[in-house]
Amino acid sequence: MSIDFKSRAVAGVRGLQPYQPGKPIDEVAREMGLDPNQIIKLASNENPLGPSSMALDAARQALDEMCLYPDGNGFNLKQKLAARLSVTPAHLTLGNGSNDVLELVIRGFACAGDEVVFSQYAFAVYPISTLAAGAVGIAVAAKGWGHDLDAMAEAINDRTRIVFVANPNNPTGTAVGRAAIESFLRKVPEHVIVVLDEAYCEYFEGDEFPDGVDLLSDYPNLVVTRTFSKAWGLAALRVGYAVSSTDIADVLNRVRQPFNVDTIALAAATAVLDDDDYLQRSREVNRKGLKQLAAGFEALGLEYIPSSGNFIAVDVGENAGQVFQGLLRRGVIVRPIEAYGMPRHLRVSVGLEAENARCLEALSEVLESMNG
Ligand SMILES: *Cc1c(COP(=O)(O)O)cnc(C)c1O
Repeated sequence: MSIDFKSRAVAGVRGLQPYQPGKPIDEVAREMGLDPNQIIKLASNENPLGPSSMALDAARQALDEMCLYPDGNGFNLKQKLAARLSVTPAHLTLGNGSNDVLELVIRGFACAGDEVVFSQYAFAVYPISTLAAGAVGIAVAAKGWGHDLDAMAEAINDRTRIVFVANPNNPTGTAVGRAAIESFLRKVPEHVIVVLDEAYCEYFEGDEFPDGVDLLSDYPNLVVTRTFSKAWGLAALRVGYAVSSTDIADVLNRVRQPFNVDTIALAAATAVLDDDDYLQRSREVNRKGLKQLAAGFEALGLEYIPSSGNFIAVDVGENAGQVFQGLLRRGVIVRPIEAYGMPRHLRVSVGLEAENARCLEALSEVLESMNG
């Protein structure tokens, strides 16, 4: 008799759909019979510049220590981040990507029956980790694709433990300004944790950016998360962090696996913080690329959501799945976001100028072939 282990999984996990990542280049090469070198991936909001040479050098040196366990407290990286953010190392929690940190917050503060509030069209990790913890996810209807912070504050009740706000948000690219965030924080009961997910904060343009770290002293229930995966170009190494009160950091630290960030990742992240030129180039390439893609979509008569991140969600119509496949056949990987409740949109990460141009060209061909 074979046992149905799926039915024996804990209730929340039985209800889960696995996270759908962007398609890797090698997979598309195999499936479409294409040369991997001819494929461009604009599907996972990665940095198109390639890694910083300072990060690479540090990572290579760190390889020599691979037989030793990493520094479980990430001393060097925390020192550097603390100085940069004007906090102490005790305010920091390092994670295996900021995904890890988001999960630590849920594991530390929510369990069966508790509620976790987030927005419709929010990052898929919030509902997945919430369900896995047996907690209940409350998705609040979005307003013009973005967070409806008033409605989110109203969704908070006695069972609410955590509220997630991604700013800028993925996959919509929408962002909220400082006044809106502060007015929201004033409405949230002081025992409810607010996670401000700032994975894309480096790309935010304008001086209205509500730097979550600045708000920590006024709102001790705030947890700000950031990552080295996007503007800092270290997605493969998996490093992110939370900035919070020392009390909250202490809780996160208890749930954390002792060696959750490896030696190579620690070394590269510590080094890349000195590469200001790389960060500036990341921003510059992104600023130009956003404009290039937006202008291209307009020329094709497509509506898109103006973005504060390093990607744009573009409305390609009801046959978005077919458009996605057509792009794949032309060696261009973008991201369908049906799973986010956006079946008409594709999310296009900003690439280098030539990559954006190729994507727009392929999109134009695909749309033409479908209309023809
Ligand atoms: C990419 C992303 C992250 C960061 O993920 P890592 O685990 O740090 O690679 C976090 N939040 C959002 C909204 C993202 O899009």
